[in-house]
Amino acid sequence: MATSNSSRRQTALRWRRTKIIATLGPASNSQGMIEKLISAGINLVRINMSHGDQASQRDTIDRVRLAARKTRRHVGILMDLCGPKIRVGRFENDGIMLKARSKVVVTTRNVTGTDGLIPSQYTSLHKDVRKGEHILLDDGKLCLRVLAVDERDVRCRVIDGGRLSNHKGMNLPDSRLSTPALTAKDRSDVAFGVDMGVDFIALSFVRSAADIRQLKRHLHKLGAAIPVVSKIERPEGVTDIDAILQVSDGIMVARGDLGIELPAEKVPLIQRMLIEKARQVGVPVIVATQMLESMMNYPRPTRAEVTDVAGAALLSADAAMLSGETAAGQYPLEAVRTMDRVLREVEQHQWQEGCFARDPIAERGSKTHFIRESMAHAAVELARDLGLEAIVVPTRTGTTARILAAHRPLAPTVGVCSSDEVCRRMTLHWGIVPFLIAETETTDWRGICNLIAAECDLGRPGSEVLLVSGFNDDPARNEPVLKLLHRPEQAPA
Ligand code: PEP
Repeated sequence: MATSNSSRRQTALRWRRTKIIATLGPASNSQGMIEKLISAGINLVRINMSHGDQASQRDTIDRVRLAARKTRRHVGILMDLCGPKIRVGRFENDGIMLKARSKVVVTTRNVTGTDGLIPSQYTSLHKDVRKGEHILLDDGKLCLRVLAVDERDVRCRVIDGGRLSNHKGMNLPDSRLSTPALTAKDRSDVAFGVDMGVDFIALSFVRSAADIRQLKRHLHKLGAAIPVVSKIERPEGVTDIDAILQVSDGIMVARGDLGIELPAEKVPLIQRMLIEKARQVGVPVIVATQMLESMMNYPRPTRAEVTDVAGAALLSADAAMLSGETAAGQYPLEAVRTMDRVLREVEQHQWQEGCFARDPIAERGSKTHFIRESMAHAAVELARDLGLEAIVVPTRTGTTARILAAHRPLAPTVGVCSSDEVCRRMTLHWGIVPFLIAETETTDWRGICNLIAAECDLGRPGSEVLLVSGFNDDPARNEPVLKLLHRPEQAPA
């Protein structure tokens, strides 16, 4: 039966490939709004542990799970740890003015701030900074240069002045920080996340692979193996990215702090480099922060923001994240709908061009994974050559889906699994449509395809579907199977 090009396109583009993450906050954590955001197409939510307490986050997580059940969607939960976020303390009258070229003291003594005296909540500040280094305050709006360190007082010259109020953030882009990657609050939040069964844990201010190993050891002690996302927002995190990717289950280009810690003009090329490197090793990558910032106050985005969201899809990021737009903005739903439309527009063009990623995985991964990556590449090419309308991936742990997704297949790819948890983890992978089946059905591949076809569009009856399974991170257990299955002309009764 001949199928028109437009119905082929409709089938192929029914699912958006780039996933959307919405940060929940006061503007969006009601039951009704979470349901609306899910219906509008979000794939994951971010629970930001920098705000609120565990009791309120517990309520939010419960609402997300209920909303997912009601809307019959798989929705991943990403718990974002504070990490060693450094802040100033409190001031008399809640703030002070910093005058450009004046001198100020930043102190780790336990004092209330006054004119010319800034308390630091980070008590190792005087040990970590050196003469000539910079201290940035309030998202980099204010800048100090260190003149000298005098016991617990850091004497500074104000470079960029302005008002500084209670608890504003402090960034030390030039300094080597001695603070542990995982704070006491993070450890308690990790235990809470394990208890709540969150799907991903993001670690802020990752500086090295050792930071991630520390978090994984803590998870192991708690008897959990939750995938870890490394937030790349420190200069050392960028430098050490190859080693960080080896131990991470995802990375986030956390452009907010990254653009403070490094000159903002460096962010676009770092973003591109991080996306390319992550995809080369099959690690999902999230682009985050200020994607539709103006939509916090207006129902329509700027053209520059639309171009930024489109850019993430053109670079083939796995996911794009909304932060303040959905957490605290006036137009959370409009922001999600806008992001969805922009991503779909780009993807329609990419599909028409026959290519979702500008750079194929050229070196097929490291030597260790050469066979696996070659087989994944072959699967994607085979599906493209045969013009297949669907790829089906029976996957126990989600690994096969993750590996295939990194090769950006043209055809919609359904990740089939009997674990709810694994389905939720697949929400982060580019282009993978998670599909839950009962344990008893997992060995009957033809049955699986019939089941899926009843709910998802697998293309024309009588067409072929490619089944891919058996990828493993351990080369000794990597036994890929590619199987071409002919679907009956008529749907089974
Ligand atoms: C960022 O800095 O871009 C980021 C995502 O982190 P947070 O929102 O926690 O500041």
